[in-house]
Amino acid sequence: MPLTKEDLMDALSRVNDPDLHKDLVTLKMVKDVRVDADAAVIGIELTTPACPMKDKIRSDIEEAIASSARSKGVAAPRITIEFTARVRESAGARPTTPLPSVKHVIAVGAGKGGVGKSTVSVNLAVGLARMGASVGLLDGDIYGPSIPTMLGLDALPAAIKGEMLVPFSVHGIKAITIGKLVDPDKALIWRGPMAHGAFKQLALQTEWGALDYLIVDLPPGTGDVPLTLAQLLPLSGAVIVCTPQRVAQDDARRAVRMFQQLGVGVLGIVENMSYFVGNDGVEYDLFGRGGAEALAATMELPSLGAVPIHMELRRNSDAGTPLANFTGTAALSQSLDDLCRRVASQISIATLSGQLVQPTLSVIGAQKG
Ligand code: ADP
Repeated sequence: MPLTKEDLMDALSRVNDPDLHKDLVTLKMVKDVRVDADAAVIGIELTTPACPMKDKIRSDIEEAIASSARSKGVAAPRITIEFTARVRESAGARPTTPLPSVKHVIAVGAGKGGVGKSTVSVNLAVGLARMGASVGLLDGDIYGPSIPTMLGLDALPAAIKGEMLVPFSVHGIKAITIGKLVDPDKALIWRGPMAHGAFKQLALQTEWGALDYLIVDLPPGTGDVPLTLAQLLPLSGAVIVCTPQRVAQDDARRAVRMFQQLGVGVLGIVENMSYFVGNDGVEYDLFGRGGAEALAATMELPSLGAVPIHMELRRNSDAGTPLANFTGTAALSQSLDDLCRRVASQISIATLSGQLVQPTLSVIGAQKG
């Protein structure tokens, strides 16, 4: 007798998600099991379309079913695995949030300016969207917004509907930035309460619609805006961008500590400008490749990957054409895809391990309202 549906479920209950360390049945990832003589169809719902473990899950399922067939002394069916994806929300009771249609808010921070925080934010947003997620990008760098340039928004008019800002729909994502609402040549000087108000308005008065991930590009350093963000929205975690040099690591360490102090989990550290790829394809180690990765290891945080210094990345950022980063040089596109997968995977891990709880902040002198 060929394997039954129960046999297949039993086999699937012995396959673990490699990141989540629980089996596919317990994780409720098995959405369909059909068996018909010598053919089986299995529907698996991944926890993110950017799942880095898809191929491993596929081969583990095939192996588990083959092993089950061997132990029963029957021929293994032909297996078709159909993958779908649904980003999960926090497993426990969802903390109250002013943005209920947004599943995950991810802050991107850095110890100091110029390390590529906005570059990482933009490419993370666009890369996750390319993989099939609904993504928003909030330019929270209200002192020096780079997103209008990096997304090529210059010629597009800002739109307001009633009391709400309409985000720009570009490159597969929805984006909003203060840079399109103020005179681009004026210095943006915000007192603490104004910074709080401006950020709050951008975050809450934008018509985001349903989003899997909202990426927030924060100002560099440890100022008012991260504090406002942590008070305003339940964060799924923070991504810290760091260049490899020792001096950059010291600043990044402070940024990590700030988020931890705010009760925000740090998803990991990205090493930007890790090495330089010349036109000849040779990799040059300019800044001490591996420095940020070593910092992540010391702080017991995941390393979220290494992005090389690449002329195309700078050119596409200046030209406002981020999608081109994913279709050009393999060294660049692979590093960005890898970054997206690692971040998505850390979000899934935090979500399904029940780590996501909204911090309760009590900050002396914090602005309310
Ligand atoms: P931050 O947001 O940390 O101030 P940006 O993302 O604005 O930094 O990056 C600063 C400049 O460096 C931009 O011109 C950007 O295009 C460039 N840049 C950032 N990362 C890279 C990289 N990996 N390769 C090439 N240029 C980069």
